[in-house]
Amino acid sequence: MDLYEHEARELFARHGVSVPDAEVVDTPHEARRAAERLGGRVVVKAQVKTGGRGKAGGVKLAADPAAAELTARQVLGTDIKGHTVGRVMLAQPVDFEAEFYVSYVLDRGAGRFLAIASAEGGMDIEEVAASRPDAVARIPVEPDEGVTASKAAGIAAAAGLPPEVAPVLERLWQVLVREDALLVEVNPLVRTTDGRILALDGKVTVDDNARFRQGRWSAQAPDPHGDPLEAAATAKGLNYVKLDGEVGIIGNGAGLVMSTLDVVAGCGARPANFLDIGGGASAEVMADGLSVILSDPAVKSVFVNVFGGITACDAVADSIVRALESVHLTRPLVVRLDGNAAARGRAILDDRAHPLVHQATTMDSAARRAAQLAVSA
Ligand code: GDP
Ligand code: MN
Repeated sequence: MDLYEHEARELFARHGVSVPDAEVVDTPHEARRAAERLGGRVVVKAQVKTGGRGKAGGVKLAADPAAAELTARQVLGTDIKGHTVGRVMLAQPVDFEAEFYVSYVLDRGAGRFLAIASAEGGMDIEEVAASRPDAVARIPVEPDEGVTASKAAGIAAAAGLPPEVAPVLERLWQVLVREDALLVEVNPLVRTTDGRILALDGKVTVDDNARFRQGRWSAQAPDPHGDPLEAAATAKGLNYVKLDGEVGIIGNGAGLVMSTLDVVAGCGARPANFLDIGGGASAEVMADGLSVILSDPAVKSVFVNVFGGITACDAVADSIVRALESVHLTRPLVVRLDGNAAARGRAILDDRAHPLVHQATTMDSAARRAAQLAVSA
């Protein structure tokens, strides 16, 4: 999950990384009030989960509270690179003499992290890396060693950053570790004219797999600017990702769902979503999954692909039958049950004899059927 700048800013502050005073608002009137509290002159920053806001008109200086209100009015509701601006952050302007780039990013291939740092911050780091690769230092960080004081000093030196940046690099590593982040990026990290090191912008991606131990995340309100189906699914605790196709997919186990997407694509149709209902087979989860998928108007057929293990196919079949009591099935459902108690599961669905429920015995034949039904719908 990517965080908004203002959320990243809070994490930085929590771990001792200095940030400018700021407030987040969603109306022009509140923007004026916030600017008054912040001292009048403010930077108005669109809160959208994309970089390059500055160039796209999403970062503007306002000279006084009236100008802040006007700027907020201009920016709120506009589109920045496909993201609607729902909130703006007002920040105290900072006078700086140097802009740096620093980030920690997971290097999955190498099984470790990478510290990326440059004395040429403030601009698009990809451009700097492409035009002057020497200006960007890339230092591996072993996860079990982390960024110690000496490691931080080494990163700063390699990138040509002043030594006073090193303690900030250590704290940013703490942000990554303590907040279960996969990416922590600050661009720009600045040295102010009075010699302080301040994070003026922040991008943090947290690892969704750590949700179980990050109580704060679940307390967060759902993102009103995200995909509404994904928000509904998240609210129901479902592992759902919206895709662009027309065949809805439900499976048990992430690996099986991934291969189901491939097989459906191989049949010339496009999957409409990823949905892993996991190991359990409660009727409630099945009903929730079906209702989320069926509320996607693009869905023309649904493919339920289950390999029975500890949760046997008869239990899954029961859950489908019970889900059909609460969910009004409006499009065909192709079910493939295999593995533990597959025959009993198929018999249960045969007995139910729902006109829109079709069964297939193999994953390939089920995918073909679901694809045909979607195309002919
Ligand atoms: P981005 O374009 O989405 O990366 O947004 P940033 O928050 O990084 O802002 C873009 C640029 O605006 C920064 O690189 C700074 O040069 C400038 N900027 C942002 N905040 C301030 C500020 O408080 N004072 C000054 N002088 N410039 C700022
Ligand atoms: Mn930036």
